[in-house]
Amino acid sequence: MNISTFDFSGKRALIRVDFNVPLNEEGNVYDDTRIKMALPTINKILNGNGSVVLMSHLGRPKNTYQKEFSLSQILSCLEGHLKREVIFAEDCIGERALEKTANLKPGQVVLLENLRFHAEEKEGDSNFAKKLAQHGDVYINDAFGTAHRAHASTSIIAENFVGKKCFGYLIESEIKSVEKVLESEDKPLTAIVGGAKVSSKITILSKLLEKVDHLIIGGGMAYTFVKALGGKIGISLVEDDFIDVAKNIIAQAEKNNVQLHLPIDTLSAEEFSNDVKVYHNNIDLIPENHMGLDIGNESIAKFSSVIKNSSLILWNGPMGVFEMSNFQRGTVAIAEAVVEATTKGAFSLVGGGDSVAAVNQFNLADKVSHVSTGGGAMLEYLEGKTLPGIKAILN
Ligand code: AMP
Repeated sequence: MNISTFDFSGKRALIRVDFNVPLNEEGNVYDDTRIKMALPTINKILNGNGSVVLMSHLGRPKNTYQKEFSLSQILSCLEGHLKREVIFAEDCIGERALEKTANLKPGQVVLLENLRFHAEEKEGDSNFAKKLAQHGDVYINDAFGTAHRAHASTSIIAENFVGKKCFGYLIESEIKSVEKVLESEDKPLTAIVGGAKVSSKITILSKLLEKVDHLIIGGGMAYTFVKALGGKIGISLVEDDFIDVAKNIIAQAEKNNVQLHLPIDTLSAEEFSNDVKVYHNNIDLIPENHMGLDIGNESIAKFSSVIKNSSLILWNGPMGVFEMSNFQRGTVAIAEAVVEATTKGAFSLVGGGDSVAAVNQFNLADKVSHVSTGGGAMLEYLEGKTLPGIKAILN
């Protein structure tokens, strides 16, 4: 079964979406990106005379109803995008929910209440999955952000839809983008890895070393590498337990003919604050009482030139503490270099947590080839792991 070719006419499509959107204090959606990303799949079914039952989680409720995590808060935003009324079911399972989904007419849409009001969702309980399955004739998974979890609605439920399950357009495009980076023979392939810690990126770094031509390392994690090479890093973020790991990565890069690029200079401060004096130092000569909080101009120039000459680019993690205005220039400049390369024809994939937040913050998201909606899922996919949500559809 394939979403593009399947005839949804008269069918109820049960879709696992990712409507885990940020809400403000009044309970209004303030970033509806995830809702918008789900629209192509929903509209495909509605336009094909099918009906739709949507299920999602929202936030981290304590396995019971909590008003602040109710999906009823997103209803009007969803109705606005779909240009039709959406029926809300106050629970995701049970008689009353089933009454709402049992006799849907073509074009009708139901939104089920937050799946995580039931502990069984995260436990991957198969009975709970069976109850959810009663809401649909076919099952579609379009929630890439939770594809790395073996939860009831993302994976276990698929057992109830043998031959009647498929990916939605969003997951399809996420898979295509990662495959493009991993499978394409286009060169040079450049990976930019930043963010706070070496420890959380170690698997991805090792995997990338088998594949990339250039590996750019920035952000807080760069200082562990600089220290491993004997540099003076002051009080910058460092993981002393990972000095040997960093040395191994440096050696492995050389062995694999991967050009490893570390920052040349840094913007430093005496405190982790936006309101203190900013200094400029060589990356390996940071004064004892300073911490490096962004890459400097020479690093920007070097990294940008590598990026602009690349055909394939993968970016995960910011170059500095981009949440503070004094230390966001490195991340902005790298984002701009990725955009410029993309304009010239490169394929660029921005995946994983804070680099996605950064391109959104700088309004550059629509100028790169693909921005992943799933931080953890994207990383695990790139690391070569089998994601339960993807396996469940393919099995
Ligand atoms: P991660 O989730 O590992 O990608 O890390 C993202 C976080 O790393 C962001 O909140 C950044 O502020 C932080 N970060 C980036 N560069 C530095 C740095 N030089 N020192 C401390 N934190 C940093």
